Amino acid sequence: MSENMIKYYYLCNVCGTCRQQCTVFRTNLLEVFSPRTRVTLAGNLYLNKLGITKKTKETIFSCVLCGICENACPSGVKVLDTIKATRKYLIEQGEGPEAIQKLLDSIIEEKNIFLLENEDRMSWAEDIEDKIKDKIKKQSELALFVGCQESFKGSLYNIPESLVSIFEKVGIDFTLLGDEEWCCGAPYFLMGIRNEKVEEIMRHNIEKMKELGVKKIITTCPGCYLAWKEEYKKFDKELPFEILHSTEILADLIKEGKLKVEKEYKKKVIFQDPCDLARHSGVFEAPRIILKSIPGLELIELEREKADAYCCGGGGLCKATYPEIAKDIATTVANIYKDHGAEEIITACPACFDNLMLGIEKIENINIQDIHSLLLALL
Ligand code: SF4
Ligand code: SF4
Repeated sequence: MSENMIKYYYLCNVCGTCRQQCTVFRTNLLEVFSPRTRVTLAGNLYLNKLGITKKTKETIFSCVLCGICENACPSGVKVLDTIKATRKYLIEQGEGPEAIQKLLDSIIEEKNIFLLENEDRMSWAEDIEDKIKDKIKKQSELALFVGCQESFKGSLYNIPESLVSIFEKVGIDFTLLGDEEWCCGAPYFLMGIRNEKVEEIMRHNIEKMKELGVKKIITTCPGCYLAWKEEYKKFDKELPFEILHSTEILADLIKEGKLKVEKEYKKKVIFQDPCDLARHSGVFEAPRIILKSIPGLELIELEREKADAYCCGGGGLCKATYPEIAKDIATTVANIYKDHGAEEIITACPACFDNLMLGIEKIENINIQDIHSLLLALL
């Protein structure tokens, strides 16, 4: 058991300020999902005052790790650290949800989250094989780390495809690890776990990047971005790479005048700040620079924006075990956006795109668009 399970239990005065903001509580209004309950439960587990039950597990594994509660808490309670420590404890006791255990095992056995052959990691690029085949494992200072979701999930292939096509139009040289890319390990970090096996994965990805002479790593997935930026840097203090999210490099190209949107896009849109990119990493401006460079596009900003922006519900691996909770959150958020006049939600994250697509199933007159695909279509 980690001290983080009990540390904040004593700091929390159960005031409830956090629960008004909590992504999960706001959607279903059940106290078992409020941040203060999660912290109280963790402390009680630590003190052996509570047994492990289905409900206990639901409280701990349904959190989407958005971090909004921490911004609201007047006492400085680190809810995320508490939840991650408790998840780790439960998994070590063999009490983790089956879906999560499968995913964690798949990373070690297959090097991806889907129990698929890692040799098929370039599946996403089948339609652009001619453009891409010379890039794989070539020497370059810039590497695209694609991530498991976009590599294997057909509905997300358009994200890396679009970025690569933009790179080609602008004449940017880059490399890819191909089947040598292994999962970044983020699901382990969301469970508070960093063991030898995960370190082996990190070591592998680092070494392969070094072999290709990489100096800058670009990710389109904010989860991979945060893993590289925080966990890999903690693991290797001398990590010789600059880590950038794709929106950062695209915004730089726009500022330098190397990328210019010519076509008009007359739509009212809201940008879905991904938690891992915005709240957890402080990258707010880059996607906005891209969107503001599009003629005719009207970017709606809500009162709750940037660090306090709504979470889509697709993170923290809540969705792996409780897909209905994740979907309900997406529907709630999409309805809020629609009520504020948005015709389209623009995403810069595969998990946001994926979850919001499910969330709008029953909402009319609003759609979801990935920022890379939008940009490519307007060049
Ligand atoms: S806001 Fe902070 S102190 Fe208040 S209940 Fe939530 S976690 Fe506890
Ligand atoms: S991290 Fe998000 S979902 Fe989890 S308790 Fe805090 S506000 Fe709720």
